Amino acid sequence: APLTTAQIREKYLQFFESKGHLRLPAHSLIAPDPTTLFTVAGMQPFKPQFMGAPARFEGHAGEHKRVTTAQKCLRVGDIENVGRTLRHCSLLEMLGNFSFGDYFKREALTWAWEFLTSPEWMGMDRDRLYATIYEDDQEAFEIWTQEIGLPEDHILRFGADENFWPADAPASGPNGPCGPCSEIFYDRGPAYGDDTWQDYAQTRESARFLEIWNNVFPQFDRQEPQPDGTPTLVDLPFKNIDTGMGLERIASVVQDVFDFYSNDVFSPLIARVAELSGHPYEGVRSVSHRVVAEHIRSVSMVIADGVTLSNTGRGYTVRKILRRASRHAYLLGLREPVLHSLVPLVVEKMGGAYPELVQNQSRIEAAVRTEEERFLKTLESGTQRLDALLGTLEKGGTLSGEDAFTLYDTYGFPIDLTKEIAEEYGVTVDEAGYAESLERAQELARAGSKYGKSELFGGAEHALDGLNPTEFVGYDALDTQGQVL
Ligand code: ATP
Ligand code: MG
Ligand code: MG
Ligand code: MG
Repeated sequence: APLTTAQIREKYLQFFESKGHLRLPAHSLIAPDPTTLFTVAGMQPFKPQFMGAPARFEGHAGEHKRVTTAQKCLRVGDIENVGRTLRHCSLLEMLGNFSFGDYFKREALTWAWEFLTSPEWMGMDRDRLYATIYEDDQEAFEIWTQEIGLPEDHILRFGADENFWPADAPASGPNGPCGPCSEIFYDRGPAYGDDTWQDYAQTRESARFLEIWNNVFPQFDRQEPQPDGTPTLVDLPFKNIDTGMGLERIASVVQDVFDFYSNDVFSPLIARVAELSGHPYEGVRSVSHRVVAEHIRSVSMVIADGVTLSNTGRGYTVRKILRRASRHAYLLGLREPVLHSLVPLVVEKMGGAYPELVQNQSRIEAAVRTEEERFLKTLESGTQRLDALLGTLEKGGTLSGEDAFTLYDTYGFPIDLTKEIAEEYGVTVDEAGYAESLERAQELARAGSKYGKSELFGGAEHALDGLNPTEFVGYDALDTQGQVL
């Protein structure tokens, strides 16, 4: 039987312990520094060490320049990807190994290779592995080709947008440790697409070539740019290693399932959603199964870390995630609160690694249920408003885009749901008009936001606000494009 997610996590940590790393527990999802609301990467708790602070850790005598963790992370900046792509979670576990001025590129890359390909560890087929490097990183190129033996045509070079971490660091921040990186991709084979690795250079998007592991070489401290905007990258006192591999992604590769929603953690959740709704997990509707399963996991994890639902900050983000899940449950025809009933499955699958889930289970269930009940009432009022609007139209008529948008903006009504109900009246929806209204609203929201659209740092959790303080804008528009990949 293939390794379970829990076994892969454990093997990773053991592998790096065998290479002299200290295993440390995960940091809370509440970010250790103020650059983000939530912890977004395994490296984040170690910024002081990258900047030169002594590598000393509570409960461990002496200095430890090699550390390994499995870090829970929350990334909501590109939450619209969740459910639509088959590789994005809002909550992910990042497996990481870190060097604070100890080993550098050679060890990092050769160990990554050993972990992935050795039959004792992940035993992946070497021919399926590919790598990207930063444009002028000749050192990484030589390690890959000469020492590891990766063929040159398995390597692509990209600029800072792909191969610098954080990607926006040179241009717009955040300040702090950063550097070029080398990413490892796995070719899932022709069943996933007929594109080639060379195509990936153009498309940057592939269902076939899956990014699994980012190896970052933090060697700069990004400081405030010059008045003329020239980036300021100052050499750190020493060179560091920061790597991050998505556990969900590697589990789907190792378990050879089509997407991580079919892995051992998500599949019971997906099956339960299918059972509750009576809709099998297939076709365009499957976006909703995925959103519900993924979001209930992240919401549970964040509440377990002490966040309470509210209209500001972290609590607001959790509320938005939960409401997105609730809408998708509604889209699946579920009219009663159900999300809370999925919490025990999340606890069963994740509680071993994260005992805070077990300790807080009843609090999580209660918080989810209260929010669901409240939100379902809003959805019900929306239904009444829509019924009234539709009642004024002739069969064969059209509901205006403006009305469809108001339903979305005020009642949180996804366009899919509006279309579905309109159909029952023999009415179509002006989708182009809806898209225009949405676009206008998003422009307003962006103009009113001081944050960029960086996926990690101050991302959509702020950029999408702007309009109605209890609703969030734009996610579902993207879900309804139909295409899942
Ligand atoms: P992508 O380009 O696919 O969005 P990324 O380049 O943003 O990924 P990194 O910031 O390099 O990802 O994070 C390191 C690793 O963490 C990735 O190689 C991937 O395995 C995993 N990872 C990142 N974001 C996600 C996510 N949203 N869901 C699941 N895994 C993720
Ligand atoms: Mg990437
Ligand atoms: Mg990456
Ligand atoms: Mg990303």
